[in-house]
Amino acid sequence: LLQAPLWSRSSSTESSLAKDNSTDDVNPDQRFKGHDMLAPFTAGWQTTDLDPLIIDKSEGSYVYDITGKKYLDPLAGLWCTALGGNEQRLIDAATAQLKKLPFYHSFWNRTTKPSLDLAKELLQFFTARKMAKAFFVNSGSEANDTQVKIVWYYNNALGRPNKKKFIARAKSYHGSTLIAASLSGLPALHQNFDLPAPFVLHTDCPHYWRYHLPGETEEEFSTRLANNLEELILKEGPDTIAAFIAEPVMGAGGVILPPSTYFEKIQAVVKKYDILFIADEVICAFGRLGTMFGCDKYNIKPDLVSLAKALSSAYMPIGAVLVSPEISEVIHSQSNKLGSFSHGFTYSGSPVPCAVAIETLKIYKETNIVEKVNKISPRFQDGLKAFSDSPIIGEIRGTGLILGTEFTDNKSPNDPFPPEWGVGAYFGAQCQKHGMLVRVAGDSIMMSPPYIITPEEVDELISIYGKALRETEKKVE
Ligand code: PLP
Repeated sequence: LLQAPLWSRSSSTESSLAKDNSTDDVNPDQRFKGHDMLAPFTAGWQTTDLDPLIIDKSEGSYVYDITGKKYLDPLAGLWCTALGGNEQRLIDAATAQLKKLPFYHSFWNRTTKPSLDLAKELLQFFTARKMAKAFFVNSGSEANDTQVKIVWYYNNALGRPNKKKFIARAKSYHGSTLIAASLSGLPALHQNFDLPAPFVLHTDCPHYWRYHLPGETEEEFSTRLANNLEELILKEGPDTIAAFIAEPVMGAGGVILPPSTYFEKIQAVVKKYDILFIADEVICAFGRLGTMFGCDKYNIKPDLVSLAKALSSAYMPIGAVLVSPEISEVIHSQSNKLGSFSHGFTYSGSPVPCAVAIETLKIYKETNIVEKVNKISPRFQDGLKAFSDSPIIGEIRGTGLILGTEFTDNKSPNDPFPPEWGVGAYFGAQCQKHGMLVRVAGDSIMMSPPYIITPEEVDELISIYGKALRETEKKVE
């Protein structure tokens, strides 16, 4: 395998991706090489050398580009369009609210009915433990920034000014604002941005396949990671650690599932030192894992929860923080003393996103979304995991409607392909050629299809994945 042809970054991108994206044969009005946008998570060479793939329309599990080419969208946008691309009820909810009240804020004890209704509904939805309040934001990053401010405010109110540090995990993704990027455990989010902020510490990534010691069981691995966490807390001083933040299943870090007994052991450590547990449910919430929340699946009893994405099926930007009764009580008494809880955004609880989120939750309830995910997910999981014996696949992992593939040599986490071969990028380009858009991060491929995906569409997804895999295998061999 290691005698594979040497692919240079430029050959793998120019000869495959560039060609697949090429719009040379289309109307010049549809060419956007070197466009004016500074694009998120995009390298400069991509915007100058390549036409971007311009998505123009969506329909169910599909999107269409500006030339009319149809693609299956197994990432559901960015893990978010849970109800697919054209749910009329969400469009109607937005339109009705736009006509009635497009905007009013929620500052100074003024607010709108949709924001109050959504808060009530969300607290009923979340049953892993009782939550007392919902605070609205516009995104997952803002939710996690808000978490840090809430925790600091809480500890200041309790007279614990030194209890301010946060522990997050290597490979986690919590967003890209200053604080959310600091919490994230992905080096690319820190490099050249002078991050992470010094109050953030990172502990182990719980990826059993990659990091377990020879002969170590999942349970033993979890024990070791919990011990490492405890050591870190003791080294820093428990009185300085405010909170621990974790995604129930890590998404952008490569779809990493917690090993057996992991959260049980981590929660015990966190609790022992009076450290708050923040569940970042931005990807996992609302059925993605086959339970309403990731906390339900892994028996997590969080103090705070971050939500976004599927909360509105991404039809409107909205996120939320759920706050425990103990914390909200402290915030209320402190803000009474200070005159206000001085945090919030113009669009916190904005009525149109709230109206869309209310309708989204109604659909989840009426269609029994968890059951729906559990019905379709075995076809998706089993169909893709059947490719596990491919010589270029190290691991395929997933649950519910989320799945990651990691390409490595010799089926080993320790034998990555040379990055310049661009194995993941090549696979992604083959998928794109066959009409499917996957998330590529190095040699990891990620998918989180919309909940409305049909059995036939799952079969199509598996078939395209299989074709792209065979083409990638051929290229490597
Ligand atoms: N938290 C998690 C777990 C995420 O996956 C993401 C985005 O993918 C975020 C936070 C950030 O959300 P946003 O991009 O809406 O700021």
